[in-house]
Amino acid sequence: MDKEELTPHMEELKRVLEGKITEKELMEELDKYVNEYDVDVESAKRAIKRKFGGEESGFVTGDAVSKKIGDLTGNEPNVDITAKIVYVEKKQIRARGEDKTIISGILGDDTGTASFTIWSDGYELEKGSVYIFKNAYIKTWNDRVQVNMGNRGAVEKSDTKIEMPERSISYSSVESKIKDLKEGMGNVSVTGRVLSVEERKVNVKGEDKTVYSGLMADDTGKVQFSAWNDHGLKEGETILISNAYIRGWKGIPQLNIGDRSEVTRVDDPFGNTDLGTSSNKTLGEIAESGGGLDVGVSGLVVDLRGGSGLIFRCPQCNRSVLGGECANHGKIEPVHDLRMKIVLDDGTGAIGAVLNRELTEKLTGVTLENAVNLSKARGESGIIAREMAPRILMKRLAMRGNVMSDEYGPMMIVAEAETEEVDIETAATKLLDIVEEVL
Ligand SMILES: [Zn+2]
Repeated sequence: MDKEELTPHMEELKRVLEGKITEKELMEELDKYVNEYDVDVESAKRAIKRKFGGEESGFVTGDAVSKKIGDLTGNEPNVDITAKIVYVEKKQIRARGEDKTIISGILGDDTGTASFTIWSDGYELEKGSVYIFKNAYIKTWNDRVQVNMGNRGAVEKSDTKIEMPERSISYSSVESKIKDLKEGMGNVSVTGRVLSVEERKVNVKGEDKTVYSGLMADDTGKVQFSAWNDHGLKEGETILISNAYIRGWKGIPQLNIGDRSEVTRVDDPFGNTDLGTSSNKTLGEIAESGGGLDVGVSGLVVDLRGGSGLIFRCPQCNRSVLGGECANHGKIEPVHDLRMKIVLDDGTGAIGAVLNRELTEKLTGVTLENAVNLSKARGESGIIAREMAPRILMKRLAMRGNVMSDEYGPMMIVAEAETEEVDIETAATKLLDIVEEVL
């Protein structure tokens, strides 16, 4: 192949590998593969992209095709999407041990919406503006397609007008129970009872705004909601929110009532069900969603972590301190406290959990007074965790609390905890009854 024939392929490679290799080097590479190694040009391009393109280059198969959001299957390695930004934010994440800022949000066209992630912070995207997402790759996450922009992607402003008709959006809105809400969902409808609602004034970019937020619940769980518009929500009424989107705060899903969301008063389908408490979740479900408000779990205590037992706190800021010195308040007279940091496992997954003094005393029988006296007598405080370990390890616990996630995974701040005794006698009698019935 001569230079002229190679030029269109060069152009493609230049666009994909911009900044990673000079044009001269690129031409030499391509020439070497095609004319020296006798590799067909498509394979040569793939090889070069893989060699210089970084992480997603393995997916590259050629020119991007343009697609509508509604046509995405979740398997597109290279696609152009023209869409309007419905919601956008910058987020700090930790990836491969490094802090990184990424851009994420929701984009939409006349066929639907999808969440997107740009794995860099090199863009300032405006809500309501239309952009072309070039060379995006599409994956599914929680059964929803997600638009990803890696190294080879580029986002450019577009003059295309995009209408997102209320009807087509309502049509694609997915009904969800509260316990199934996950960060990144873009088009959900939720029926729930308003448990609380409050108005807060916040300052957004120098502008005073009112945010309406609170808690709502259905028969599967509770979720925090917030809205920038006043929908006149009242405690105790049951509402259907359609076209809401779900953001996450430390893994806890939060329901956002946006400009396109609709709020309708509906008949309460929950009857006298007490919606104050959430249903139980498996730890596998929690690991998938990342967190939740007032969640019930049960499992086996498989570890008692460091930082458990008798600890010392700063009397002013309540932080746990070592050696009578607080990072904020300097030399202080520490106050004693008890705490357990455990790992609970139910066979589907595991979470960390923090239990306060009251729960620690209840579950281990070791009181703060015992602990202080014992550690004074022995001249060390580590003895307390060692005393607690055999009293809590391999015990079956039922717990309830808020679950949040950080780089160490999901963790529950435990509000209630009970040991679950497996009543072998009752279980055996029940089995005997069944056997006798059969006979
Ligand atoms: Zn302090």
